[in-house]
Amino acid sequence: MSAPVVGRFAPTPSGRMHLGNVFAALIAWLSVRSQKGTMVLRMEDLDTQRTSADFADTLRDDLRWLGLCWDVETPPQSRRSAVYDRYFEKLMDEKLLYPCYCTRSQLHSVNAPHLSDGTYVYPGTCRNLTTPPPDRAPAWRVIVPDRVWQFTDLVQGDYSLNLATACGDMVVRRADGVYVYQLAVTVDDAEAGVTEVVRGMDLLSSAPRQMYLQETLGFPHPVYGHVPMLLSPDGRRLSKRDRDLDLGVLRQRMTPAELIGALAFAAGLLEKNIPISAAELASIFRWEQLRGDAICLDALP
Ligand code: GLU
Repeated sequence: MSAPVVGRFAPTPSGRMHLGNVFAALIAWLSVRSQKGTMVLRMEDLDTQRTSADFADTLRDDLRWLGLCWDVETPPQSRRSAVYDRYFEKLMDEKLLYPCYCTRSQLHSVNAPHLSDGTYVYPGTCRNLTTPPPDRAPAWRVIVPDRVWQFTDLVQGDYSLNLATACGDMVVRRADGVYVYQLAVTVDDAEAGVTEVVRGMDLLSSAPRQMYLQETLGFPHPVYGHVPMLLSPDGRRLSKRDRDLDLGVLRQRMTPAELIGALAFAAGLLEKNIPISAAELASIFRWEQLRGDAICLDALP
């Protein structure tokens, strides 16, 4: 028998969920529930300027309203820096880290962003630095090998990326001491025993970065599923600025079953746009039915 599935929601509590967030959460939940697995909730609040406990409360309330309940909530990232310290030390002991003193403008002047999330390819400027600038706290980078990372995504199929050419040595801790998403998410998923990571397509290129950190820290690789982005009727990607499609507005206009039915129909999971609860949809959910390309929201009421 295969091991029980553990999935997760990892929202950033920086505003109201928009439909794209709802869609990724729905698919993650359907996959776990259809396999009788465990769902973990974790608030990704590393950026304490943009996130708040109030947004986190609203997020929990919105997930409950949708019928997407979780089994365990693990502590938010803002309270886990002592845990991240331990893994940072491990990377340091393995001589995989070096301090980087480059300023943002230095970094941006050498290269154009390479990855879809705006990551710049780091040319390794500080890798062999002999005289660090005085009185400046450094960021810390992990050395990435010149190697291709390959995996088969549940939605996007085969995907591969060479981190050395796609992003170069990665920052794991910023100069202000805050750990970055890639390290935190790798540690948190592994410590929670997550076996299946389902999230938006915008994070596809993060998977190889996390796979590299998993390998260096001795964690197993989860299965990945990156769900298509939702586009507004004029072809733009949805963001937290699209207030008309956030849950604050949608909850006034629709029932949870209407919203889930419309999303499931747009994604290819239902043949007709009919109201359906998350629980009912879980009983008929199959990964093969999910469309892999971007979904335009014309179909929504
Ligand atoms: N916190 C991220 C977000 O809200 C998701 C990160 C992840 O699922 O790995 O977009």
